[in-house]
Amino acid sequence: MNIARVPRIRLAHLPTPLEPMRRLSEALGGPNLWIKRDDCTGLATGGNKTRKLEFLMAEAVAQSADTVVTVGAYQSNHVRQTAAAAAKLGLACEVVLEHRVPHPDSDYLRSGNRFLNDLFLATTHEVETGGQPKERMKEVGEACRARGAVPYLIPGGGSNTTGALGYALCAQELLYQAAELDLRIDGVVHATGSAGTQAGLVAGLEALNSHVPVLGISIQRKNDEQLPKVRTLVDAMADRLEVRGGIDDTRVQVNDNYIGPGYGYSSEAMVEAIRMCAELEGLLLDPVYSGKGMAGLIDLCRRGHFKKDENIVFIHTGGSVSLFAYLETFRRDGAPAES
Ligand SMILES: *Cc1c(COP(=O)(O)O)cnc(C)c1O
Repeated sequence: MNIARVPRIRLAHLPTPLEPMRRLSEALGGPNLWIKRDDCTGLATGGNKTRKLEFLMAEAVAQSADTVVTVGAYQSNHVRQTAAAAAKLGLACEVVLEHRVPHPDSDYLRSGNRFLNDLFLATTHEVETGGQPKERMKEVGEACRARGAVPYLIPGGGSNTTGALGYALCAQELLYQAAELDLRIDGVVHATGSAGTQAGLVAGLEALNSHVPVLGISIQRKNDEQLPKVRTLVDAMADRLEVRGGIDDTRVQVNDNYIGPGYGYSSEAMVEAIRMCAELEGLLLDPVYSGKGMAGLIDLCRRGHFKKDENIVFIHTGGSVSLFAYLETFRRDGAPAES
């Protein structure tokens, strides 16, 4: 795996810590749970998109772009990290926000990532539920060109073969850390959405001849859609990293049991997972991604999916800023609200 020559701009605080979750492991009666703190990548409260943006922003700069354009859900962590990266590099940023969660309350509309986008001076365009956010992003790009700007378009979640390189590097970082700690990693679990995190990890591990299984907990799509989405990007990454012989289907695993009512909607399991990590580990997860990913991990532990002496690493992909968009969900005096 040689990505040393690919243009990259350092934006993340790396390596992110790899830490044991002792009290959570004990509460569940095993396995040994570890957490890779990609919520601590450092850029504007961190998260997994920062690793991708190191490669994406470098490509933007190499193409002499003066404006980055991207797209995401209304409370997108990807959009927030992109807006922050653009600010840091002195580029303009235009973002298309999709109202993917209907009937949100005022915290959802004003706080969390949405609030931070404004601080970074991102220009926002909104698309209603059921609208065409990707088409809107292209239009915004065209409008930039029409006025003489040079736009660089970043797909949702930064998930293409450039962005996913960030997670191929993360795979390498994780293996180095495990070697240093003399830790045998038996499995990696994380929340999967636009698939760049999983594709980068899977292809990166394969390129390094590691057979650690990676399980993506889907937060939006059922397996019939999510699996092919991950598979397609894994294949493209296998090409990009020149993994000989391609990557076997058994390496691409997704579990869609923890989506709850839908993307961005609360589920009881998500609330429980967030509370457990807060109360037992002093850790902040998020309601949309890492909370549901952790809900999956906790349930799989309870079901005996892992052996008690296995070492399982949860990749904390960040997002806790959006907790502030979900205050009602976590109220203790009364039933949690819908959104
Ligand atoms: C984007 C995101 C994910 C999902 O990563 P993908 O690469 O899009 O699959 C997981 N967790 C958080 C907090 C995210 O913002």
